[in-house]
Amino acid sequence: MSDYIKSLIAEVKAKNQGEPEFHQAVEEVAESLSIVFEKHPEYRTAKVLERIIESERIISFRVPWVDDQGEIHVNKGYRIEMNSAIGPYKGGLRFHPSVNLSILKFLAFEQVFKNSLTTLPMGGGKGGSDFDPKGKSDLKIMRFCQAFMSELFRHIGANTDVPAGDIGVGGREIGYLFGQYKKLRNEFTGVLTGKGINWGGSLIRPEATGYGSVYFAAEMLETKGKTLEGKICLVSGSGNVAQYTVEKILDLGGKPVTLSDSNGFIYDDEGIDREKLAFVMDLKNIRRGRIKEYAEKYKNSVYTEIHPGDAFNPIWNNKADCAFPSATQNEINEKDAQNLLNNGVYVVSEGANMPTTLDGVKIFLDNKILYGPGKAANAGGVAVSGLEMTQNSMRLPWTREEVDNRLRMIMKEIHRTCILMANRFSAPGNYVIGANIGGFLKVADAMIDQGVV
Ligand code: NAP
Repeated sequence: MSDYIKSLIAEVKAKNQGEPEFHQAVEEVAESLSIVFEKHPEYRTAKVLERIIESERIISFRVPWVDDQGEIHVNKGYRIEMNSAIGPYKGGLRFHPSVNLSILKFLAFEQVFKNSLTTLPMGGGKGGSDFDPKGKSDLKIMRFCQAFMSELFRHIGANTDVPAGDIGVGGREIGYLFGQYKKLRNEFTGVLTGKGINWGGSLIRPEATGYGSVYFAAEMLETKGKTLEGKICLVSGSGNVAQYTVEKILDLGGKPVTLSDSNGFIYDDEGIDREKLAFVMDLKNIRRGRIKEYAEKYKNSVYTEIHPGDAFNPIWNNKADCAFPSATQNEINEKDAQNLLNNGVYVVSEGANMPTTLDGVKIFLDNKILYGPGKAANAGGVAVSGLEMTQNSMRLPWTREEVDNRLRMIMKEIHRTCILMANRFSAPGNYVIGANIGGFLKVADAMIDQGVV
């Protein structure tokens, strides 16, 4: 690592104290870019990375709301408008009690590079609240979403900032948020993506992140002349990304054997087939239950509790070929990464954002496995959000096949960019370097073109 990058990282840590996730995301990108600054000092002179690291704008607000019992609650709300060099801010909203500035800044920072990789004109942003939707009635969720949008509406717009879903924000929440925006602004615009299909949504948007992550894994396997056919796959999470990851693994002939939530994971030796996946979708999206119930229904499967404080996560200690971490950040640490390798895993495609710690990533890279980092592998979600924006602008919906074909082409193109950039900067097969440099160059050039603003 160059002295310039070392001092830049030290400065980020000093200026953004108590934000470990943000430090981690910056460190990973900055390290990969060392070689770019050596070859192209003009980016350093223009202080492009320093400018990308500092959000263009951070909005932090109070969300007071009254529940269905008449009790008043106060939550924190945020929107990080990170970078708009190549398009309107774009990125999801997360509702989870762990939400804080560090987590949202890391997600917004990652989003800048990811959106650039998609080939579509989208800047980077992220937002959310420390509100916990788990176990709450639809009425409570609606009241919270309306209160949240009562402030957020003045900062977003179809040409300014277009939020979407993330952890804790699915179709139901996007509906309530969109309804409130429409009422307050008195206009029907594509201000959010992930909308319902009857009111401006795009086909394949719910599926896009999971499908995209599996398409990316298939592209990586193809470089070795292999396919997903017959491969044993570990999938974590059981939400939006995990569900459609399982569906696409099945489409491509693989065998998914695990799913999890924050309490534990199930291992199904016989494989999670389409009927079992339908059970999980009903359990998680309609009945809003826990993954433990899978093992109660399918007796051959085994449920194991996960304890966040433990040295390793047992889901990653099972024999397999591929791993699709699709739950949350830092769910694979150094020990987990080693366990995956010891169990035969040689493909990791990250559906979640930054699911692997820096030490874990190092293990994957040192062992030269096919490792697709989140900002490349899970970019399919935001890519189809971009396609939803296009359809909204045209006021014309595309068919399922049209959107899926475009998603596949975009994932192919992201993969090609990673390979090309990794080769150009003397790191063949290193998708981390390929994705970071590929995402950076487009944004950096646009920032230089637009002057110091
Ligand atoms: P989701 O539908 O809310 O599902 C999240 C899943 O992860 C749930 O099973 C949840 O279990 C589990 N989880 C959440 N926090 C956890 C924690 N601290 N420890 C263990 N498990 C945890 O969210 P999602 O949309 O699938 O998002 C999953 C990941 O993909 C996130 O990293 C997100 O940023 C990333 N991502 C999503 C999209 C998208 O289009 N949705 C796009 C790109 C990237 P519980 O029910 O127990 O909380």
